[in-house]
Amino acid sequence: MNETDSIDNLEAKSRPWWKRIPLTLQIVIALILAVVLGVALGAGNPSPANKTFIETLAIPAELILKALRALATPLILMAVLHTFLTTNIPGTAGRRLAVLLFTNTTVAIVIGLFVANVLRPGTWGSLTASGSGQTATKNFDPWGLLKDAVPEAVLQPLVNNNVIQLIVIALSFAIVLRAIKSEQLAQGKRGYQAIEDIVGILFESIIRILHWVIALVPLAVFGIVGKTVAEKGFEPFKSLGAFVIAVLVGLTLQACYYLTRVKFGSWVNPINFLRGGSDAFLTAFSTDSSVATMPITFEALQHKIGLRESSASLGALVGSNFNNDGTALYEATSALFISQVLGLHLNIGQQFVVILTSIFASVGAAGIPEAGLVTMTLVFTSVGLPTQYIALLITVDWFLDRCRTVINVMGDMTVSALLDGKKPRSVDEA
Ligand code: ASP
Repeated sequence: MNETDSIDNLEAKSRPWWKRIPLTLQIVIALILAVVLGVALGAGNPSPANKTFIETLAIPAELILKALRALATPLILMAVLHTFLTTNIPGTAGRRLAVLLFTNTTVAIVIGLFVANVLRPGTWGSLTASGSGQTATKNFDPWGLLKDAVPEAVLQPLVNNNVIQLIVIALSFAIVLRAIKSEQLAQGKRGYQAIEDIVGILFESIIRILHWVIALVPLAVFGIVGKTVAEKGFEPFKSLGAFVIAVLVGLTLQACYYLTRVKFGSWVNPINFLRGGSDAFLTAFSTDSSVATMPITFEALQHKIGLRESSASLGALVGSNFNNDGTALYEATSALFISQVLGLHLNIGQQFVVILTSIFASVGAAGIPEAGLVTMTLVFTSVGLPTQYIALLITVDWFLDRCRTVINVMGDMTVSALLDGKKPRSVDEA
């Protein structure tokens, strides 16, 4: 442990000074510099001579979005395969777990849509993105959705970025590979190990490439904020402020829902739940990753709250990979927000598609920083919303990501408490 620590320290020291500045601080610096640049360029009244330069400022954000769209499908595929191959889920508990995960995520999305429909943050100011995206939303067609769930070719969803098809393919392979692994284990064979290793290595590689892309986020924020301030002044940020408020209100309501579930569905007292989980919540906020927080979540569940090991490990292990309610709520709110900004009305059917794709997108949003931003591209595509608006959301994502990660972790802990049932652990079980 100490050896690894010192290797990490050495690595950190050998990095150039600017890489040692925490990402959040880099983004804040980029924001300040961008505002200065935008004001210098006219703050809403740009001189025509600077037009080309101002247009160029959007390029980093456009490139980052393209990279995020490209990484979204392989990330989901590998996350699903990796979790199925490496975690042990016993039969009945597995079914209960699936039901709990599904209900909590659906509630999160419905809360997100409800808050966005009531507060209508997209109408609080005017916001326009660069680029020539199509603004027509896709109509809701339930049969089409069903027919479309099965792809023409196995690799098609990876190419078309279709999240529902992708989950169908990912789950089919995941279930079969898991079954083959169990059969081989029973026969004393180890042929499955090669596939497990390859999936693990590919998953890790995608995450590392994602880190490169994320390292460029401050540059994208600088460009997009600089351009927006130069062209439109500060008006568009009113809308983004309203969006941040809407997401925070939604996440708070989701937290209240969890506490109510814990109170009525388990033996745990909600106050102890909050107190015992405080380390995990703080770690989630500071690391931005529910997977990185997982050991702390597990420890809090088992030792501070006092759940049985089996429920603690199921909720924390499977949950940190698959259960991302905060992310689901965020994606649904974002889709509605952007549709309001564009003056497009998403009808009930289209909002249903948002629910469905947000569920899948949150399952695939591996619990790492900014994963929600990656899979959000898929939710937007599914209802025909232009993805270049996500570039504007990047400016506030560094903060909202931390908040939704706390809710993701709280969701995992709630599932563990519910699995633990109404009877506290007895002394012999401890
Ligand atoms: N950062 C989140 C998590 O680790 C995932 C997301 O980006 O929404 O849970």
